[in-house]
Amino acid sequence: MAETLQTPLESLACVGSLRGNLFKKLGLKRISDLIFFFPREYLEAADHHAYHQLQNDCRSSIVGTIDSIDKRFSPDGRSSVGVLLKVDNGGFVRLVWFNQPFRAAALERGGRIQATGVAKSTGISFEMRHPDVIKLDTDEEIAAGKPKPIYRLTEGLQQRHIIDALSAVLPTFADQLQDAFSADFLKQHNLLAIGEAIRQIHFPENLEQAHQARHRFVFQELLVYQLALAIRRSKLATRQAAPAIEGSGTIHHRILKRIGLQLTGDQQRVIEDIREDMKKPVAMNRLLQGDVGSGKTAVAQYAMLLAVANGYQATFMAPTEILARQHFERMKSSLSGAQCEVALLVGSLSNADKSDLQHQIALGTVDIVIGTQALLSDRVEFNKLGLVVIDEQHKFGVAQRATLRGSEFQPHYLVLSATPIPRSLAMTAFGDLDVSTIREKPAGRESVNTYLGSNEQMASWWQFVRSKVNEGRQAYVITPRVLSDEANEIAGAEQTFRMLRDGELAGLRIGLLHGKIDAAVKNETLQQFANGEIDVLVATTVVEVGIDVANATIMTILDANRLGLAQLHQLRGRINRGIHRGYLCVFASPSVDVTEQEKLVALSKIDDGFELAELDMKMRGPGNLIGTQQTGLPPFRIADLLRDRSVVEEVRWIAREMIANDSELSDPQWSRLKQQVVSRHGGMIDFGDVG
Ligand code: ADP
Ligand code: MG
Repeated sequence: MAETLQTPLESLACVGSLRGNLFKKLGLKRISDLIFFFPREYLEAADHHAYHQLQNDCRSSIVGTIDSIDKRFSPDGRSSVGVLLKVDNGGFVRLVWFNQPFRAAALERGGRIQATGVAKSTGISFEMRHPDVIKLDTDEEIAAGKPKPIYRLTEGLQQRHIIDALSAVLPTFADQLQDAFSADFLKQHNLLAIGEAIRQIHFPENLEQAHQARHRFVFQELLVYQLALAIRRSKLATRQAAPAIEGSGTIHHRILKRIGLQLTGDQQRVIEDIREDMKKPVAMNRLLQGDVGSGKTAVAQYAMLLAVANGYQATFMAPTEILARQHFERMKSSLSGAQCEVALLVGSLSNADKSDLQHQIALGTVDIVIGTQALLSDRVEFNKLGLVVIDEQHKFGVAQRATLRGSEFQPHYLVLSATPIPRSLAMTAFGDLDVSTIREKPAGRESVNTYLGSNEQMASWWQFVRSKVNEGRQAYVITPRVLSDEANEIAGAEQTFRMLRDGELAGLRIGLLHGKIDAAVKNETLQQFANGEIDVLVATTVVEVGIDVANATIMTILDANRLGLAQLHQLRGRINRGIHRGYLCVFASPSVDVTEQEKLVALSKIDDGFELAELDMKMRGPGNLIGTQQTGLPPFRIADLLRDRSVVEEVRWIAREMIANDSELSDPQWSRLKQQVVSRHGGMIDFGDVG
C-alpha cells in the first residue's frame, strides 16, 4: 500500500513498532506529525569553545565525553549532581546541579554531551553550574559546514533515529504538502514555499537556510493566531454599537481640574488615546499598563468622568473588596461637591442595601459604581452603562474578560494592568486590545531602596525594621509558601509569623495573611493593617494585588529566589506608594543557584518594571512569565515571543488588514489558512454564531 501523510510511522521500515511507540511518546503518530516536528536548535562545529578558549564568567558551550558522575546527599536532604566532562581536544570541566537529582538519571558515563552555561574559574580548572545539556549520539562528530538539527527526545530515542525517519519520508512528501499561502502572498512577504521550508528546516545547508525556513513557520503560526484575534475583534465591534462619547474642550478642562494633578506626559498621551477611542461608536478595548503607582487610576478616573459628563454610567472593578473600598473613598472625596453619584457595591453590604443599590443603578440615579469583579458580573443591570474599567487585572486573557453588557449599547472597556509585560507579549496576549503604556512616574517619586541581604545581615535587618516601625512606618514580610518546606529551604508564612512574634520582632503588633485563612479573617486583618493597627504583616504573595497602604514602606522577602522577577517587582510596588521612602531587603535561600542569584541582583539594580519584564522573559521564557493559563496564550509550537517579536508586530498588522478587507476570510485563496485558524483557535472566535 502506498504511503500517505496519514500513514502511521511504525509502518515505515526504518521505524517499526518498537521505536514507533517511542515516537508516540513525543506525540508523533503519523508521517505528517514527523514532518512538522521541528528541530529545537542546530549545532554547528563553530559554536563550540575549546577548553583553552574558556573564560571566567563567560557563557560558553563545550562538547565532550562524560568521565564520571557523582551524586551527593547532605544530611538535611539537599543533593548535588556533579559531572566531570572530558572536553574534546583536551581539558576537564566540572558540571554541577543542586537539588536536581533527576539530572543524574539522564546522564551516563561515556556519553557525549554539549553543555552550555557560564564557566567559572576554580583556579585550576572550570566549573559550570546548572548548564543546559544536549545529549549527542555516541561517537558522532559534528560535520563541519552543515548545521546539525537537534530534536526533542524521549528516553530510548536518539537524534539519529529521528533523522533517519525524516530522511526516509521527506524526499517523497515535501513536495506533496499543500501550502496555506498563495504564490503571490509568499512572494509579497518574502516567505519560502512549504516544501522548500520543510526541507530546509530539517536539513539546512547552512544556518541562514535554517533561519529562513524557521521564519516561514513562525510567521504562519503567529499569523494564524493574530487572525483569530482580529476576527474576534471585528465581530465584537460590529455586533453592537457603543456610545459615542464627546470630550469637548470645556468638559476636558473641567475634568482635569477635578482630578487636580499635574499629569505626566504619559498620562496625557493615554488620555488622548482614550478620548479618541470613546468618541467612536465602536467599543473601546484598551489595555493600560504601567507600574504600580504610575498613575493609572487617575487616567481611569478621567475616562469615568468623561462618560458621566456625557450622561452615561461608569463602573470600576477592583480585584479585592478592600481595594474597592479604598477607590471608593478616594473617588468620593475627589468628587465632593460635584453632581456625580458614586456608590460602592461589595459583598459585605446587607441584602436590603444591595438590592436598593441595584435598583438605583438600574434607574440610573447612580453614576459611578465601584466594586469587585465578582459582584458586578452578575445580576447588576445598568440603566446606561458607557464605560467599564477593570483594575489590576492579572488574570487577563481574551477568553475571560468580563461580559458586562449594557442594554442597548456595548460599553467601552479599559483594562488596567500593573504587570508590565514586554510589547511582543502584550500584542499577543492582548492582540485584540489596543495597548497604552505609562512608563513615566509622577514627579518627585523616589525609587525603593532594594538590598540583597546575606544571612549574616538578617539580624541587623530586623533591627532596622523595628526602628522604622518605631518611627511610625509599617512593614511586610513575604514568604513564598504558607507552610515551610525545610528540605527545600522555602520559608512559610505560618512559621515565620511565629518566629518573628516570639523572636526578632517580639512586642510589635504582627499579623498573618495567606490564602488558607478564612476570608472574613483575612479581610479583617487587611483592614487592620490599612488602619495602622498592625505593624508588621507576615504574608504570602497574596498581598501582591490586594492591598494599598501608603504608610507601609518596609518589605522583607524570604527565599526570594523562589519567586519570579516580575512578581518580586510587583511586590516591591506595594511599598512605593507614599511620601516615605521604601526599603526592600530580599534574602535568598542558602542553596540559591547562579541564575536565581542573577535574578535578585537584577531586581536590586533595576527599578523599571518593563526592563525587568524583558529580562524575566529572557530568563524564563515567555510561557512562564505570567503563567500560560493566566495570559490565556496558546502554547506556540515554534514561535518564541521574545526572539520573534518583530514578526509578532508584522503579522499583527497583516492580520488586521486581511480581516478589514474580508472579515471572515471567505475568499477561497484563504481557505487553508482559515481552516488552521478554526482548528487551532476556533474556541476564541465561535465562527458558528453569525448565522
Ligand atoms: P496606579 O493605579 O498606577 O497604581 P495611582 O493612579 O493610584 O497609580 O497613583 C498612585 C499615586 O500617585 C496616587 O496617590 C496618585 O494620587 C498619585 N499620582 C497619580 N498621578 C500623579 C501625577 N501626575 N502627579 C502627582 N501624583 C500623581
Ligand atoms: Mg492602582
